[in-house]
Amino acid sequence: MSQEDIFKKIIAHCKEYGFIFQSSEIYDGLSAVYDYGQNGVELKNNIKQYWWDAMTKLNENIVGVDAAIFMHPKTWEASGHVGAFNDPLIDNKDSKKRYRADVLIEEYLEKLEGKIQKEIAKASKRFGDSFDEQQFRKTNPRVLANQSKMDETKARFVNALENNDLANLKKIIEDSDIACPVSGSKNWTDVRQFNLMFSTQLGSVTEEANTIYLRPETAQGIFVNYLNVQKTGRMKIPFGIAQIGKAFRNEIVARQFIFRMREFEQMEMQFFIKPGTEMEWYNFWKEKRMNWHKALGMGDENYRFHDHDKLPHYANAATDIEFLFPIGFREVEGIHSRTDFDLGNHEKFSGKKMQYFDTDENKNYVPYVVETSIGLDRMFLSIVSNAYAEEIVESTGEKRIIMKIPAVLAPVKLAVFPLTKKDGLPEKAREIIDQLKLDFNCQFEEKDTIGRRYRRQDAIGTPFCITIDHQTLEDNTVTIRYRDTMEQERVVIDKLQGIMNDKVSLKELLKTL
Ligand code: ATP
Repeated sequence: MSQEDIFKKIIAHCKEYGFIFQSSEIYDGLSAVYDYGQNGVELKNNIKQYWWDAMTKLNENIVGVDAAIFMHPKTWEASGHVGAFNDPLIDNKDSKKRYRADVLIEEYLEKLEGKIQKEIAKASKRFGDSFDEQQFRKTNPRVLANQSKMDETKARFVNALENNDLANLKKIIEDSDIACPVSGSKNWTDVRQFNLMFSTQLGSVTEEANTIYLRPETAQGIFVNYLNVQKTGRMKIPFGIAQIGKAFRNEIVARQFIFRMREFEQMEMQFFIKPGTEMEWYNFWKEKRMNWHKALGMGDENYRFHDHDKLPHYANAATDIEFLFPIGFREVEGIHSRTDFDLGNHEKFSGKKMQYFDTDENKNYVPYVVETSIGLDRMFLSIVSNAYAEEIVESTGEKRIIMKIPAVLAPVKLAVFPLTKKDGLPEKAREIIDQLKLDFNCQFEEKDTIGRRYRRQDAIGTPFCITIDHQTLEDNTVTIRYRDTMEQERVVIDKLQGIMNDKVSLKELLKTL
């Protein structure tokens, strides 16, 4: 099955099992806007909790805020978003499809890299143990040709981005023979800049002065409040402020499900530090954040850092944590050393002092900032795409679709099945749920055969199912069945809490960080 087909299956599965629905579906949907269903919202809340607790409970110098989506319009002038939050867009004249010029070029570079990797894999298979990759890269003519094409295109690309040279971006697309993926045509318009911020009017008067924006990132709500928090919380540098909230971007190309949405959610933490210490903290947070991802056990090989070729306007160092999605390695989180860009500019634009008085140094300064910024929806997508699996059950030859969601994040932790609807079994099942429901999200299911009930719970990723039968009434034991191995064992009811705690407690996961 191709990766594209797998991606389509995941999207269909997310809809069928109440994870994600297209927004306003009855009106044929709204492009790149999605709603989370009954299982999606539980998974999303669990991800948020994991992030929030890792930030605010594990670090006594990190506190949270919840700022408004609307902010004074000057905020976005100070942050550089009014002037520079643009993407270069290009249209294909034949298909009438719109693309991001930079993404077209990045995909072309990825294709060249893919060709090189293929040659290497082929040769490595042919030569076996004696294969020397370094030597092969240096001498194989096809690899050399692709590498030199890559290096040359990359250099031109970075240069064009740095100089905001739109004509050159178009020239690179033409020189690289990049065709529209839909029509195959190379008939392109010029490249234009497109501002990604949504605007609306505040109040009833539609004058220029009343134009406000839906925030394109949550970070600015933290910056404008940093002194409020610092003073009222008596925070000492270094300290951090965390926030989870909605952000809005009028994305040019939004065809990748919840990977690129127009309304999405971010989890951002701004860490305020002494100027000059930023590289130390940047490296600290790089490591911390990578550990947070890897602790979920979704495969260390599925993560990598990708340093930016072109630094954002506000940063002096920037890297992405990329995850291997079915569409390839893509960014889930950005870690940026933002210097005093934001606070400095807010000082300039507002005329208010943004200085911190450092009692150790006995002087004032505008703090530097290292930010960690993760997209909640992208994190969600990384989890469901990693979790989705189709297996053949050996004993029956049946296919089962299973969501191997990390147990601690699973929407439902425990499903309780009375074997039959009579003889007091449903009542016993409810009794067990009542004992456990305040600690774990439980579900009661009495319809259909036990096998079918297992399939339904596998499909939403429930790590434990227990069956209540007649023996339960006699000796207080139940059959517990584990999602991933399908193993079953008989345990006494009093042990359930402990078994569940070991496997699904957020506390245990947080202890590993
Ligand atoms: P990209 O290069 O993919 O457009 P970005 O570099 O603009 O992303 P940031 O501004 O660094 O993204 O935002 C931080 C995080 O917010 C990203 O790592 C991503 O997880 C998330 N994010 C950004 N844009 C979107 C979007 N349109 N839909 C969903 N998540 C997004």
